[in-house]
Amino acid sequence: MPYFTLDASSLQHWLTNHADLASLLGGSPSAWTIREVSDGNLNTVFLVDGPAGSLCCKQALPHVRVAPDWPMPLERALYEARYMRATADAVRPAAPELYFYDDEMFLLVMECLTPHEVLRTALIRDEVQPGFSAVIGQYVARSVHATSWISQPFEHGSKLLADFAGNTALTRITVDLILTDPFRPCSRNPAPEADLLPDVEALQADKPLHRAVGNLQERFLTARQALLHGDLHTGSIMQHKDDVRVIDGEFATMGPIGFDCGLYLGNLALHACGAPHKGNLITAEITAFWNSFTADFRTLLKTGGGDVWALSDDVEREEMLNTFLHSILQDTTGFCGLEMIRRTIGFAQVADYTLCVTPESRTEARRKALKTGRTLILAAPTVHNLEGLLNLLTLR
Ligand code: ADP
Ligand code: MG
Ligand code: MG
Ligand code: MG
Repeated sequence: MPYFTLDASSLQHWLTNHADLASLLGGSPSAWTIREVSDGNLNTVFLVDGPAGSLCCKQALPHVRVAPDWPMPLERALYEARYMRATADAVRPAAPELYFYDDEMFLLVMECLTPHEVLRTALIRDEVQPGFSAVIGQYVARSVHATSWISQPFEHGSKLLADFAGNTALTRITVDLILTDPFRPCSRNPAPEADLLPDVEALQADKPLHRAVGNLQERFLTARQALLHGDLHTGSIMQHKDDVRVIDGEFATMGPIGFDCGLYLGNLALHACGAPHKGNLITAEITAFWNSFTADFRTLLKTGGGDVWALSDDVEREEMLNTFLHSILQDTTGFCGLEMIRRTIGFAQVADYTLCVTPESRTEARRKALKTGRTLILAAPTVHNLEGLLNLLTLR
Protein backbone atom coordinates (compact mmCIF):
# COMPACT_ATOMS: atom_id res chain seq x y z
CA MET A 1 0.00 0.00 0.00
CA PRO A 2 1.62 3.32 -1.01
CA TYR A 3 2.19 5.73 1.87
CA PHE A 4 -0.52 8.01 3.12
CA THR A 5 -0.99 9.69 6.46
CA LEU A 6 -3.28 7.61 8.67
CA ASP A 7 -6.17 8.93 10.70
CA ALA A 8 -8.32 6.94 13.13
CA SER A 9 -10.68 5.60 10.47
CA SER A 10 -8.01 4.66 7.91
CA LEU A 11 -5.98 3.00 10.69
CA GLN A 12 -9.03 0.94 11.64
CA HIS A 13 -9.31 -0.13 8.01
CA TRP A 14 -5.57 -0.92 7.80
CA LEU A 15 -5.86 -3.08 10.94
CA THR A 16 -8.81 -5.05 9.55
CA ASN A 17 -6.49 -6.09 6.69
CA HIS A 18 -3.90 -7.44 9.15
CA ALA A 19 -5.57 -10.48 10.67
CA ASP A 20 -2.92 -11.22 13.33
CA LEU A 21 -3.12 -7.70 14.70
CA ALA A 22 -6.92 -7.58 14.44
CA SER A 23 -7.17 -10.79 16.44
CA LEU A 24 -4.95 -9.33 19.16
CA LEU A 25 -7.58 -6.61 19.50
CA GLY A 26 -10.47 -9.10 19.33
CA GLY A 27 -14.11 -8.46 18.50
CA SER A 28 -15.26 -6.61 15.43
CA PRO A 29 -13.65 -3.36 14.25
CA SER A 30 -16.70 -1.42 15.41
CA ALA A 31 -15.81 -2.49 18.97
CA TRP A 32 -12.35 -0.89 18.77
CA THR A 33 -11.63 2.55 20.12
CA ILE A 34 -8.80 4.52 18.53
CA ARG A 35 -7.35 7.65 20.07
CA GLU A 36 -4.42 9.78 19.03
CA VAL A 37 -1.89 10.44 21.81
CA SER A 38 0.92 12.11 19.84
CA ASP A 39 2.87 14.33 22.20
CA GLY A 40 6.38 14.08 20.74
CA ASN A 41 7.79 16.49 18.17
CA LEU A 42 8.01 14.15 15.20
CA ASN A 43 5.41 11.42 14.75
CA THR A 44 1.75 10.44 15.05
CA VAL A 45 0.85 7.83 17.67
CA PHE A 46 -2.52 6.09 18.04
CA LEU A 47 -3.60 3.72 20.81
CA VAL A 48 -6.14 1.12 19.77
CA ASP A 49 -8.24 -0.74 22.36
CA GLY A 50 -10.25 -3.83 21.57
CA PRO A 51 -12.17 -6.37 23.68
CA ALA A 52 -9.14 -8.72 23.84
CA GLY A 53 -6.16 -6.37 23.86
CA SER A 54 -4.63 -3.12 22.75
CA LEU A 55 -2.00 -1.87 20.28
CA CYS A 56 0.17 1.20 19.86
CA CYS A 57 0.53 2.38 16.24
CA LYS A 58 3.25 4.94 15.46
CA GLN A 59 3.54 6.45 11.99
CA ALA A 60 6.18 8.81 10.61
CA LEU A 61 4.97 11.96 8.88
CA PRO A 62 6.85 13.52 5.95
CA HIS A 63 7.59 16.51 8.19
CA VAL A 64 8.25 17.37 11.83
CA ARG A 65 4.82 16.96 13.50
CA VAL A 66 5.08 20.20 15.44
CA ALA A 67 6.64 22.12 12.50
CA PRO A 68 4.88 21.13 9.23
CA ASP A 69 7.20 23.31 7.12
CA TRP A 70 10.24 21.30 8.30
CA PRO A 71 10.50 18.25 5.99
CA MET A 72 11.69 15.00 7.57
CA PRO A 73 12.34 11.67 5.79
CA LEU A 74 9.88 8.89 6.57
CA GLU A 75 12.71 6.37 6.96
CA ARG A 76 13.12 7.29 10.62
CA ALA A 77 10.41 4.68 11.31
CA LEU A 78 12.61 2.03 9.69
CA TYR A 79 15.53 2.92 11.98
CA GLU A 80 13.28 2.76 15.02
CA ALA A 81 12.12 -0.71 13.92
CA ARG A 82 15.73 -1.79 13.36
CA TYR A 83 16.75 -0.45 16.75
CA MET A 84 13.92 -2.32 18.50
CA ARG A 85 14.88 -5.52 16.70
CA ALA A 86 18.61 -5.12 17.39
CA THR A 87 18.09 -4.64 21.13
CA ALA A 88 14.83 -6.48 22.00
CA ASP A 89 16.36 -9.76 23.20
CA ALA A 90 18.95 -7.96 25.31
CA VAL A 91 16.69 -5.43 27.01
CA ARG A 92 13.42 -7.38 27.40
CA PRO A 93 11.15 -6.54 29.27
CA ALA A 94 12.37 -2.91 29.43
CA ALA A 95 10.97 -1.96 25.99
CA PRO A 96 7.60 -2.55 24.33
CA GLU A 97 7.47 -5.54 21.97
CA LEU A 98 7.44 -4.65 18.27
CA TYR A 99 4.68 -6.70 16.62
CA PHE A 100 4.87 -5.45 13.05
CA TYR A 101 6.62 -2.91 10.85
CA ASP A 102 5.04 -1.77 7.57
CA ASP A 103 7.83 -0.43 5.40
CA GLU A 104 5.49 1.24 2.90
CA MET A 105 3.35 3.00 5.49
CA PHE A 106 6.37 3.73 7.74
CA LEU A 107 4.22 2.39 10.56
CA LEU A 108 5.28 0.56 13.72
CA VAL A 109 2.73 -1.54 15.57
CA MET A 110 3.86 -2.35 19.08
CA GLU A 111 2.78 -3.40 22.54
CA CYS A 112 0.55 -0.77 24.07
CA LEU A 113 1.86 0.37 27.42
CA THR A 114 -1.15 0.94 29.59
CA PRO A 115 -1.82 2.39 32.12
CA HIS A 116 1.76 3.66 31.82
CA GLU A 117 2.67 7.31 32.02
CA VAL A 118 5.55 9.18 30.38
CA LEU A 119 8.31 9.50 33.00
CA ARG A 120 8.69 13.26 32.55
CA THR A 121 4.96 13.75 33.22
CA ALA A 122 5.07 11.43 36.23
CA LEU A 123 8.08 13.29 37.63
CA ILE A 124 6.32 16.62 37.20
CA ARG A 125 3.24 15.25 38.96
CA ASP A 126 5.33 13.61 41.69
CA GLU A 127 3.97 10.19 40.82
CA VAL A 128 7.15 8.15 40.42
CA GLN A 129 8.22 5.11 42.36
CA PRO A 130 11.81 5.95 43.43
CA GLY A 131 14.54 3.74 42.01
CA PHE A 132 13.18 3.74 38.43
CA SER A 133 16.60 4.84 37.15
CA ALA A 134 18.16 1.48 38.03
CA VAL A 135 16.11 -0.03 35.19
CA ILE A 136 17.45 2.58 32.79
CA GLY A 137 21.05 1.89 33.86
CA GLN A 138 20.44 -1.80 33.23
CA TYR A 139 18.81 -0.99 29.88
CA VAL A 140 21.84 0.98 28.68
CA ALA A 141 24.29 -1.70 29.87
CA ARG A 142 22.31 -4.45 28.14
CA SER A 143 21.81 -2.60 24.87
CA VAL A 144 25.52 -1.74 24.80
CA HIS A 145 26.52 -5.31 25.59
CA ALA A 146 24.43 -6.57 22.67
CA THR A 147 26.06 -4.16 20.21
CA SER A 148 29.65 -3.44 21.34
CA TRP A 149 32.94 -4.48 19.76
CA ILE A 150 34.10 -5.87 23.13
CA SER A 151 31.32 -8.44 23.35
CA GLN A 152 30.55 -9.13 19.67
CA PRO A 153 32.70 -10.21 16.70
CA PHE A 154 33.59 -7.17 14.60
CA GLU A 155 31.30 -8.37 11.81
CA HIS A 156 28.36 -7.65 14.11
CA GLY A 157 29.50 -4.06 14.64
CA SER A 158 30.16 -3.63 10.92
CA LYS A 159 26.61 -4.75 10.16
CA LEU A 160 25.21 -2.29 12.72
CA LEU A 161 27.29 0.53 11.25
CA ALA A 162 25.84 -0.28 7.82
CA ASP A 163 22.26 -0.72 9.09
CA PHE A 164 22.20 2.64 10.85
CA ALA A 165 24.55 4.68 8.62
CA GLY A 166 21.58 6.02 6.66
CA ASN A 167 19.91 7.55 9.73
CA THR A 168 21.50 10.86 8.81
CA ALA A 169 18.39 13.05 9.00
CA LEU A 170 17.97 12.36 12.69
CA THR A 171 21.71 12.47 13.38
CA ARG A 172 21.60 15.89 11.70
CA ILE A 173 18.97 16.95 14.27
CA THR A 174 21.31 15.86 17.07
CA VAL A 175 24.31 17.60 15.53
CA ASP A 176 22.37 20.83 15.03
CA LEU A 177 20.00 20.97 18.00
CA ILE A 178 22.23 19.52 20.73
CA LEU A 179 25.79 20.07 19.57
CA THR A 180 25.68 23.38 17.69
CA ASP A 181 22.60 25.66 17.69
CA PRO A 182 22.54 26.61 21.41
CA PHE A 183 26.06 28.01 21.08
CA ARG A 184 25.33 30.41 18.25
CA PRO A 185 22.52 32.75 17.24
CA CYS A 186 20.13 30.56 15.25
CA SER A 187 16.56 31.01 14.02
CA ARG A 188 15.59 27.62 15.49
CA ASN A 189 16.39 28.82 19.03
CA PRO A 190 13.30 30.40 20.61
CA ALA A 191 13.90 33.93 21.88
CA PRO A 192 14.96 33.70 25.54
CA GLU A 193 13.23 35.79 28.19
CA ALA A 194 14.87 39.22 28.52
CA ASP A 195 16.48 38.46 31.88
CA LEU A 196 18.24 35.41 30.46
CA LEU A 197 19.56 37.16 27.35
CA PRO A 198 22.93 38.16 28.87
CA ASP A 199 23.54 34.55 29.96
CA VAL A 200 22.75 33.27 26.46
CA GLU A 201 24.99 35.86 24.83
CA ALA A 202 27.82 34.93 27.20
CA LEU A 203 27.49 31.23 26.27
CA GLN A 204 27.50 32.13 22.59
CA ALA A 205 30.73 34.13 22.97
CA ASP A 206 32.52 31.62 25.23
CA LYS A 207 35.51 30.39 23.19
CA PRO A 208 36.91 27.89 25.75
CA LEU A 209 33.39 26.42 26.03
CA HIS A 210 33.11 26.13 22.25
CA ARG A 211 36.42 24.25 22.11
CA ALA A 212 35.12 21.80 24.72
CA VAL A 213 31.87 21.42 22.74
CA GLY A 214 34.07 20.74 19.70
CA ASN A 215 35.61 17.77 21.52
CA LEU A 216 32.14 16.40 22.25
CA GLN A 217 31.12 16.87 18.60
CA GLU A 218 34.16 14.80 17.69
CA ARG A 219 33.26 12.12 20.26
CA PHE A 220 29.65 11.94 19.09
CA LEU A 221 30.48 11.56 15.40
CA THR A 222 33.59 9.38 15.57
CA ALA A 223 33.45 7.19 18.72
CA ARG A 224 31.31 4.36 17.33
CA GLN A 225 31.40 2.31 20.54
CA ALA A 226 27.95 0.73 20.49
CA LEU A 227 24.40 1.18 19.23
CA LEU A 228 22.83 4.16 20.98
CA HIS A 229 19.16 4.85 21.61
CA GLY A 230 20.11 8.41 20.73
CA ASP A 231 17.17 10.25 22.36
CA LEU A 232 17.12 8.86 25.90
CA HIS A 233 15.34 11.68 27.72
CA THR A 234 12.61 11.32 30.34
CA GLY A 235 9.96 11.72 27.59
CA SER A 236 11.31 8.52 25.95
CA ILE A 237 10.54 6.42 29.02
CA MET A 238 7.15 5.20 30.22
CA GLN A 239 6.46 3.73 33.62
CA HIS A 240 3.72 2.28 35.78
CA LYS A 241 4.68 1.33 39.34
CA ASP A 242 7.91 -0.64 38.92
CA ASP A 243 7.39 -1.43 35.21
CA VAL A 244 9.76 0.90 33.36
CA ARG A 245 10.03 0.89 29.54
CA VAL A 246 12.14 2.71 26.98
CA ILE A 247 10.36 3.87 23.78
CA ASP A 248 11.16 6.03 20.73
CA GLY A 249 14.48 4.69 19.39
CA GLU A 250 14.30 6.47 16.02
CA PHE A 251 17.55 8.40 16.65
CA ALA A 252 19.54 5.16 16.88
CA THR A 253 23.12 5.37 15.68
CA MET A 254 26.49 3.86 16.55
CA GLY A 255 28.11 6.32 18.95
CA PRO A 256 29.74 6.93 22.33
CA ILE A 257 28.02 5.09 25.20
CA GLY A 258 28.22 8.21 27.38
CA PHE A 259 25.80 9.94 25.02
CA ASP A 260 22.82 7.82 26.14
CA CYS A 261 23.94 8.09 29.79
CA GLY A 262 24.47 11.85 29.54
CA LEU A 263 21.10 12.60 27.94
CA TYR A 264 19.30 10.64 30.64
CA LEU A 265 21.21 12.20 33.52
CA GLY A 266 20.87 15.65 31.93
CA ASN A 267 17.09 15.34 31.93
CA LEU A 268 17.10 14.23 35.58
CA ALA A 269 19.28 17.22 36.44
CA LEU A 270 16.97 19.56 34.49
CA HIS A 271 14.06 18.29 36.56
CA ALA A 272 15.96 19.24 39.71
CA CYS A 273 16.61 22.71 38.26
CA GLY A 274 12.85 23.14 37.82
CA ALA A 275 12.12 21.58 41.23
CA PRO A 276 15.10 22.46 43.49
CA HIS A 277 13.45 20.87 46.55
CA LYS A 278 13.78 17.50 44.80
CA GLY A 279 17.59 17.60 44.69
CA ASN A 280 17.95 14.60 46.99
CA LEU A 281 15.49 12.47 45.02
CA ILE A 282 17.28 13.31 41.76
CA THR A 283 20.71 12.67 43.31
CA ALA A 284 19.45 9.24 44.40
CA GLU A 285 18.17 8.52 40.87
CA ILE A 286 21.45 9.57 39.26
CA THR A 287 23.28 7.31 41.72
CA ALA A 288 20.88 4.43 41.04
CA PHE A 289 21.39 4.85 37.29
CA TRP A 290 25.17 4.94 37.45
CA ASN A 291 25.51 2.10 39.95
CA SER A 292 23.21 -0.18 38.03
CA PHE A 293 24.77 0.75 34.69
CA THR A 294 28.34 0.13 35.87
CA ALA A 295 27.51 -3.08 37.77
CA ASP A 296 25.70 -4.62 34.79
CA PHE A 297 28.26 -3.31 32.32
CA ARG A 298 31.10 -4.99 34.27
CA THR A 299 29.25 -8.27 34.66
CA LEU A 300 28.16 -8.44 31.02
CA LEU A 301 31.34 -7.25 29.34
CA LYS A 302 33.88 -9.09 31.46
CA THR A 303 33.20 -12.32 29.59
CA GLY A 304 34.29 -10.75 26.31
CA GLY A 305 33.35 -12.42 23.07
CA GLY A 306 34.51 -9.70 20.71
CA ASP A 307 37.72 -9.05 18.83
CA VAL A 308 38.50 -6.01 20.98
CA TRP A 309 40.47 -7.11 24.11
CA ALA A 310 40.64 -10.68 22.79
CA LEU A 311 44.18 -11.06 24.20
CA SER A 312 43.39 -9.95 27.75
CA ASP A 313 43.10 -12.26 30.73
CA ASP A 314 40.50 -11.68 33.46
CA VAL A 315 42.70 -9.35 35.50
CA GLU A 316 43.68 -7.20 32.53
CA ARG A 317 40.09 -7.15 31.35
CA GLU A 318 39.00 -5.82 34.75
CA GLU A 319 41.53 -2.98 34.46
CA MET A 320 40.52 -2.21 30.91
CA LEU A 321 36.86 -2.10 31.91
CA ASN A 322 37.76 0.39 34.65
CA THR A 323 39.58 2.62 32.17
CA PHE A 324 36.72 2.32 29.69
CA LEU A 325 34.12 3.22 32.33
CA HIS A 326 36.23 6.19 33.35
CA SER A 327 36.13 7.54 29.80
CA ILE A 328 32.38 6.78 29.52
CA LEU A 329 31.86 8.82 32.72
CA GLN A 330 33.73 11.76 31.22
CA ASP A 331 31.67 11.55 28.01
CA THR A 332 28.53 11.23 30.16
CA THR A 333 29.45 14.41 32.04
CA GLY A 334 30.00 16.38 28.84
CA PHE A 335 26.84 15.19 27.08
CA CYS A 336 24.84 15.77 30.29
CA GLY A 337 26.01 19.39 30.20
CA LEU A 338 25.11 19.74 26.51
CA GLU A 339 21.62 18.36 27.12
CA MET A 340 21.03 20.76 30.01
CA ILE A 341 21.91 23.71 27.81
CA ARG A 342 20.02 22.68 24.67
CA ARG A 343 16.80 21.84 26.56
CA THR A 344 16.99 25.27 28.22
CA ILE A 345 17.67 27.62 25.32
CA GLY A 346 17.41 25.53 22.12
CA PHE A 347 14.60 24.01 20.06
CA ALA A 348 12.46 21.48 22.04
CA GLN A 349 12.71 22.67 25.63
CA VAL A 350 11.50 20.72 28.64
CA ALA A 351 8.19 21.02 30.48
CA ASP A 352 9.92 20.62 33.85
CA TYR A 353 10.37 24.41 34.02
CA THR A 354 6.59 24.80 34.32
CA LEU A 355 7.10 23.69 37.94
CA CYS A 356 8.53 27.14 38.64
CA VAL A 357 5.56 29.25 39.65
CA THR A 358 6.97 32.75 39.16
CA PRO A 359 8.76 34.14 36.09
CA GLU A 360 11.70 35.02 38.36
CA SER A 361 12.09 31.49 39.68
CA ARG A 362 11.84 30.15 36.13
CA THR A 363 14.63 32.39 34.93
CA GLU A 364 16.69 31.37 37.98
CA ALA A 365 16.09 27.69 37.19
CA ARG A 366 17.18 28.17 33.58
CA ARG A 367 20.23 30.15 34.66
CA LYS A 368 21.23 27.34 37.00
CA ALA A 369 20.86 24.80 34.15
CA LEU A 370 23.02 26.91 31.83
CA LYS A 371 25.68 27.46 34.46
CA THR A 372 25.75 23.79 35.46
CA GLY A 373 25.78 22.68 31.82
CA ARG A 374 28.75 24.90 31.08
CA THR A 375 30.63 23.64 34.14
CA LEU A 376 30.00 20.01 33.17
CA ILE A 377 31.21 20.52 29.60
CA LEU A 378 34.39 22.30 30.71
CA ALA A 379 35.19 20.06 33.68
CA ALA A 380 34.29 16.70 32.08
CA PRO A 381 37.96 15.68 31.63
CA THR A 382 38.56 16.18 35.39
CA VAL A 383 35.77 13.86 36.56
CA HIS A 384 37.03 10.53 37.91
CA ASN A 385 34.07 9.04 39.75
CA LEU A 386 30.35 9.50 40.32
CA GLU A 387 31.00 11.71 43.35
CA GLY A 388 32.94 14.08 41.07
CA LEU A 389 29.96 14.36 38.71
CA LEU A 390 27.52 14.86 41.60
CA ASN A 391 29.72 17.63 43.00
CA LEU A 392 29.61 19.48 39.68
CA LEU A 393 25.81 19.12 39.52
CA THR A 394 25.33 20.83 42.94
CA LEU A 395 21.84 19.38 43.42
CA ARG A 396 22.25 18.48 47.10
P1 ADP B 1 7.86 10.88 18.95
O1 ADP B 1 8.90 10.15 18.15
O2 ADP B 1 6.96 11.72 18.11
O3 ADP B 1 8.46 11.62 20.10
P2 ADP B 1 7.07 8.80 20.85
O4 ADP B 1 7.55 7.45 20.46
O5 ADP B 1 7.84 9.48 21.91
O6 ADP B 1 6.91 9.73 19.55
O7 ADP B 1 5.54 8.64 21.30
C1 ADP B 1 4.74 9.78 21.55
C2 ADP B 1 3.81 9.46 22.72
O8 ADP B 1 3.00 8.35 22.40
C3 ADP B 1 4.53 9.07 23.98
O9 ADP B 1 4.92 10.19 24.74
C4 ADP B 1 3.50 8.25 24.70
O10 ADP B 1 2.56 9.09 25.36
C5 ADP B 1 2.79 7.55 23.56
N1 ADP B 1 3.36 6.21 23.30
C6 ADP B 1 4.43 5.92 22.53
N2 ADP B 1 4.68 4.59 22.51
C7 ADP B 1 3.74 4.03 23.28
C8 ADP B 1 3.43 2.68 23.66
N3 ADP B 1 4.17 1.63 23.21
N4 ADP B 1 2.36 2.48 24.46
C9 ADP B 1 1.60 3.51 24.90
N5 ADP B 1 1.83 4.79 24.58
C10 ADP B 1 2.89 5.07 23.78
MG1 MG C 1 9.34 10.94 21.78
MG1 MG D 1 0.12 9.57 28.12
MG1 MG E 1 10.89 10.36 18.63
